[in-house]
Amino acid sequence: MYKYDYLIVGAGLFGSVFAYEATKRGKKCLVVEKRNHIGGNVFTENIEGINVHKYGAHIFHTNDKTIWDYVNQFAEFNRFTNSPIANYKGEIYNLPFNMNTFYQLWGVRTPEEAKKIIEKQRKESGIENPKNLEEQAISLVGKDIYEKLIKGYTEKQWGRPATSLPAFIIKRLPVRFIYDNNYFNDKYQGIPIGGYTKIIEKMLENVEVHLNTDFFKHRRELEALANKIVYTGMIDQFYDYKFGVLEYRSLRFETEVLKGVENYQGNAVVNYTDRETPYTRIIEHKHFEFGTQKDTIITREYPKEWKPGDEPYYPINDDKNNEIYKKYKELASQEKNVIFGGRLATYKYYDMHQVIGSALKTVEKEFKDE
Ligand code: FAD
Ligand code: UDP
Repeated sequence: MYKYDYLIVGAGLFGSVFAYEATKRGKKCLVVEKRNHIGGNVFTENIEGINVHKYGAHIFHTNDKTIWDYVNQFAEFNRFTNSPIANYKGEIYNLPFNMNTFYQLWGVRTPEEAKKIIEKQRKESGIENPKNLEEQAISLVGKDIYEKLIKGYTEKQWGRPATSLPAFIIKRLPVRFIYDNNYFNDKYQGIPIGGYTKIIEKMLENVEVHLNTDFFKHRRELEALANKIVYTGMIDQFYDYKFGVLEYRSLRFETEVLKGVENYQGNAVVNYTDRETPYTRIIEHKHFEFGTQKDTIITREYPKEWKPGDEPYYPINDDKNNEIYKKYKELASQEKNVIFGGRLATYKYYDMHQVIGSALKTVEKEFKDE
């Protein structure tokens, strides 16, 4: 007899959804988390009345009503719509790439004029079947936008030439021939009023959670405690890196409280798209919740090379790493008592709604006979 039905490694979104659903079904769960807080990367901390997104801007968006209804049971969401601004050497452009951007760049006023320019630039580049991020970007929006708004940002974000990055990364961004600065195409979007941490607190309300507990420091004792493991850490670490180390891109966040400054940049997110500015974006947290506080808090996001031991933020889904991941995935698929889930264990560039979706699928499969 085991003390717990499930040992859940990681108190991020995946682990928390699983723990909540399993507990609801009468299962006994233990969550272990190596950080000193719950929530993983969606963690927000209230500082001077402002909910600070401690691991970068998090905007919830989904097209799936089931997932939207699901998160809404844990918090009320506001009507925030992400409309980041790009600052290229002091010039300001709207994102994502839409008629406002095209007007600001080329002075064109109609979709037809904009499409003509993009098509001309695409033709001049000679790209037919885009094979990497650079080719994909140029074929979607042309050379001018690529040079000013994509190349510099992308190469500092990923620390690699855009020609060696997978094309799918740039397809995250909409390209629109209407005047619409909404960064996402999804039907539902917003920020939980009061921060994301509240959502996770509710999910884990009736669950035993041990913070500051690294699974690998206590692996034997922990594995002996539960019937099954739900693992949301790095998959290569689980297998002691036997097929090699999966690479990530890391980040450094520099947060500043600006006393007496009510409104620093007039927008929640400003991207710095030139190569020279060392950070990729500045976020001003109060704007996520339409804050009217007297002070403000900003965070600069600096991309950084990742080495084992650093926080892994973005999986590098290039061919080399995907090949290594395949081998780990094969091993994982043979496990009877370990479930792998979330961004790190599946080595996927997942947004929050995708993580919730996959956690709910896992739950459905796991409890299908009950
Ligand atoms: P994580 O949040 O990484 O949780 C895993 C947890 O496991 C962590 O808390 C970790 O400490 C813990 N853990 C790992 N190893 C161990 C171990 N050995 N022992 C114990 N605990 C361990 N998504 C959106 O939808 N919208 C956005 O705007 C958005 N913006 C983002 C911005 C940034 C900068 C980043 C990095 C991500 C963003 N995301 C966004 C993605 C979002 O953060 C993730 O989809 C989500 O947080 C992933 O949840 P997870 O549970 O899979 O992983
Ligand atoms: N990107 C860019 N310029 C921008 C914003 C994004 O070139 O102003 C590219 C960059 O390669 C980035 C990718 O588009 O990694 C995806 O952007 P997104 O905003 O979705 O990144 P995330 O919020 O996940 O870091």
